[in-house]
Amino acid sequence: MPRLVSVAVPVPALELLTYRVPEGLEVPAVGARVLVPLGARRVTGVVVRQEAAALAEGQAPALKDVIDVFDGTPFLPPGVVSLGLWVADYYACGPGAAIAAAMPPFAWVESEWRVRVTEAGTKRAEARQGSLRPALRDSVLSLLAGGRWTPLRSIAYQLEHMASGRRGRAVPARAAVRALQADGLVDVDDVLEGQAEAFKTIRVAGIAAKGTDALAGSNVLGPKQREALVLLAGVPEGMPVAKLRERGVSYDVLQRLAGRGLVEIRREATERDPFDTPALPAASDAKAAEGRVLTGEQAASYERLRRLAAERRFAAALLHGVTGSGKTEIYLRLAGDVCQAGRSVLVLAPEIGLTPALAGAFRQRFGDRVAIQHSGLSDGERHDQWQKIRRGAVSVVVGTRSAVFAPLESIGLVVVDEEHDGSYKQEETPRYHGRDVAVMRAKREDALVVLGSATPSLESYQNAANGRYELLTLDRRIFDRPLADVTVVDMRGEFAKRGPDVVLSQPLVEAIALRLARAEQVLLLLNRRGFATAVFCRQCAGTVECPNCSVSLTVHSGPRGTMRARCHYCNYSTVVPTTCPACAAPYLVQAGFGTERVEREVVAAFPGARVERLDRDAIRRRGAAALLLGRFGRREIDVLVGTQMIAKGHDFPRVTLVGVVSADVGLGLADFRASERTFQLLTQVVGRAGRGEEPGAAIIQTLYPEHYSIRHARRQDYRAFFQDELAFRRAMHYPPYVALTSGIVRATTIAGAMTDAGTLVRALRESGRGGHFQALGPAPAPFVKLRGEHRAQFFLKGSRRAAMRDAIRRALEALPDLRRRVVIDVDPMSVL
Ligand code: ADP
Ligand code: ZN
Repeated sequence: MPRLVSVAVPVPALELLTYRVPEGLEVPAVGARVLVPLGARRVTGVVVRQEAAALAEGQAPALKDVIDVFDGTPFLPPGVVSLGLWVADYYACGPGAAIAAAMPPFAWVESEWRVRVTEAGTKRAEARQGSLRPALRDSVLSLLAGGRWTPLRSIAYQLEHMASGRRGRAVPARAAVRALQADGLVDVDDVLEGQAEAFKTIRVAGIAAKGTDALAGSNVLGPKQREALVLLAGVPEGMPVAKLRERGVSYDVLQRLAGRGLVEIRREATERDPFDTPALPAASDAKAAEGRVLTGEQAASYERLRRLAAERRFAAALLHGVTGSGKTEIYLRLAGDVCQAGRSVLVLAPEIGLTPALAGAFRQRFGDRVAIQHSGLSDGERHDQWQKIRRGAVSVVVGTRSAVFAPLESIGLVVVDEEHDGSYKQEETPRYHGRDVAVMRAKREDALVVLGSATPSLESYQNAANGRYELLTLDRRIFDRPLADVTVVDMRGEFAKRGPDVVLSQPLVEAIALRLARAEQVLLLLNRRGFATAVFCRQCAGTVECPNCSVSLTVHSGPRGTMRARCHYCNYSTVVPTTCPACAAPYLVQAGFGTERVEREVVAAFPGARVERLDRDAIRRRGAAALLLGRFGRREIDVLVGTQMIAKGHDFPRVTLVGVVSADVGLGLADFRASERTFQLLTQVVGRAGRGEEPGAAIIQTLYPEHYSIRHARRQDYRAFFQDELAFRRAMHYPPYVALTSGIVRATTIAGAMTDAGTLVRALRESGRGGHFQALGPAPAPFVKLRGEHRAQFFLKGSRRAAMRDAIRRALEALPDLRRRVVIDVDPMSVL
C-alpha cells in the first residue's frame, strides 16, 4: 500500500502535489514541513493531508518521493492548515500561497543553485560555440569572473539589471546556466538554504566551579577580574555578555577569565521581544484602568458579550461604538474572562505599528502571556513571537492581518478592532480579508468573534441589521464628553474670495491660531502625499505621466530645495521636467497639492509653531512613525500634518482641533466604496478631537458640502449614512447586495490583454448561464498600464460565491497559459 501525502508548496498557482513517503521515513503529520522535489529544485512544503491509498495503484509509481521530513510533530496546527485551505478555496488562489501566509519567517528551507566558472569557462576565447547566445554567455561568465561560487539568485538579479537598461526582456537565468553547464563552462551545485531553527543566539557568561574556588582561595586576580567574578557569583544561571558590558565588565576580561577556566561563555537562544523596543509608549493609566467602573453602556455590552463567550459556541457580534466610547476596555475584560476559562484570545488591529496603544493595553493587563505579530517587527522578532505562541506559552495574540493565522489553539475569543479598515484586505496573493477570515476562524473554533468600529463596514452593519450578527451599541463617549463640533467650509466661496490657490481657508487659519495661542494641539488631514499632485502643460493640456504606468507623476520636494517627480505605483522618479514631454512647450505648471505643500503653508502662516508631517514618505525608516507620534504625545509638536495615518486610533487628549484640508480626495474616485471610505475617514479623524478635558472642534474643507458622506460625517451620524449608502449600493448592484469578484488580465499590450480577458469572460459567461452570477466586461482597467504591464478588467456579480469560484477554477484550468497573468480578487475593496 503506497504511503502518500498531499503537500502545499509555496509556488503561486500550483495545486496540491502528491508525494510518496519512502520506507525509512515516518509518514509526516498534517502540518509538518517536508522537503520535496519540484522540477529541478527542492522546496519546503507543508503536509495538508495523508492520503490513505486513495490514489489508484497505477498512478503511484509516477509519483516522486518526499526527500526529508523536518518536523516530528505538526509545525502548523492542523486547524491553521485547514483554515489555509479554506482561504485558498474561498479566494480562488493556490493552496501553497495560502499556507505560506500562515508561516512565520525562516520556516522555509529551499535548495538554491550555486554556480562557478570552470577552467574551460575561464578561457572563454577557446570555448567552443555553445548553445547560448554569445552575448548572454559572455555576460554570465563575466559575472562569475572571480571564480567564486555564486548563487543563481544573484546572477538572475544582475542579468535583469543589465536587461532593464534595454527594453526589459526577462532573461531566463536558470536556462542560461543550464546551457553553460551542458557546454562545460560552469559547474552547478545544489545546496540547501534557510534554517529550520532561527532563534537569535547571544553569548552568556557564567561562573565555573574553578571560578568559585578562585574567589574563595588566594588565586591571583586583577581587580577587574575579581569584580567580574563577584558579579557572576551572584547569578548562577549566568548573564548575557551585553548586560555585563553595561555593568562595566568588558568582553576582554571575560575572555581572559574563560582562558583560565574560571568562567564559561556559552551561546544561548534568546527570544527577541518587540516590547523591549521603545516604540511602545507606556500606557500610564494601566493600573488605574483595572479598578475602573464601566459606564452603563459599556456594562450592558460587556454583560451580553460575556454571556455569548461563555456559551462556547460560534457567535458574532458587532460592537458599534463612537470614537472614545471605551471599546478597548470591553475587549480587555472579555479577554480576561476567556483566559480565565482556559481558552486563548486573538486580537486583530489594522496597524499596530502606528497604534501601539492597543497592544500596550493588553500587555499591561496580561503581562508576558501576550505575543504580538505585525509586519513592522523584524523577521527575527516575528519568528520568536510565533514560536512562543506555538509552544503554548501565550494566551493572547495581538496582531495585524496575518495574525489571523497565529498558531494559537483552543481560541475562545476573536476581536477585530476597527473592523472597517481597508488594511485588513491583503492586496497581493492570497487576497484575503483578515476580518472575514477571522470570522471563519472563530466559527471553526466555536468561539465568539467581536467586530468593533465607530464606522462599521456596510457588510458588517448589514449583517447586524438582518440578525446574523448581534448588534451592541455605545452611543456616548466616556465621561459623556461631547463629540467634536464640526464646521464645513465651502471652498467654492473661499476660491471666489481669495483665488483658486487657497490651501488653508480663513476659518481654518483662525481656528489654528486660536489653538496655538492656548497651547493646544492640532491635527491636519490631507489624504494625498507629495507637494503637487500633477505637472500640467498649459499648451497641450496634458499632464506628465509615468512611463511605466498610466498615472500622472507626483511632485515631491527633495533635499536642498530640489523637486522630483515620482510615480506612487512603481517608484519611477525623475527631475521635474521644464518642457512638456508631449508637445515640448516650456509652459509647465504644478497643479493640486499634497501633505508637503500643506506643511509648508502652515509653517509660513505660523512661523513660531512646531510643525511636522506624518505620511509614508516621512516614515521610511523603521520606527520613525512611533517616534513622531511619541513626540506629538509629549506635546513637542503643535501641528501634525498627515495622511489617513493620523486618523487611526490614537488618543491624544490635548488635540482640540482637527482640520480636514480637503475632504474630496477620495470622493472623486469612480469606486463603489468612495463614499463609504470618505465617511469613515472623516468620522475617524474628527473623532481624534476633544478626547481630553477640553471640547474638540473640527473643520472640514470641501467643494461638495451637500454630498451625503460629508453631511452625515458632519453630524457623525453613522445610521443615516448607512441608510443612504445602502440605497446606493442596492440601486447599483454592489456589495453587500451582491457578491463581487474582479479579475485583471495582464499582458504586454492592451490588445493582448483584452483578447485574453475576452476568452476568459466567454468561458465564465458560459458557466454563469445557471443564473447564479453575471460576467461583465472585459474593459480596459482604470489603471490601464501599471509597472509596464497593460491591464484588462472584468467582473462577476451574483448571489452565489461558490458558483463563481467553481467557474473561475474551471476556466483557469482550461486556460493554463493565462493563469499566471490573471489576478482574481474575491470581495475586492475597490474596483480601481
Ligand atoms: P474607543 O476605542 O472606543 O475609541 P477607548 O477604548 O480608546 O475608546 O477609550 C477612550 C478612553 O476612555 C481611553 O483613554 C480609556 O482608557 C478610557 N476609558 C475607557 N473606559 C473607561 C471607564 N469605564 N472609565 C474611565 N475611563 C475609561
Ligand atoms: Zn509608475
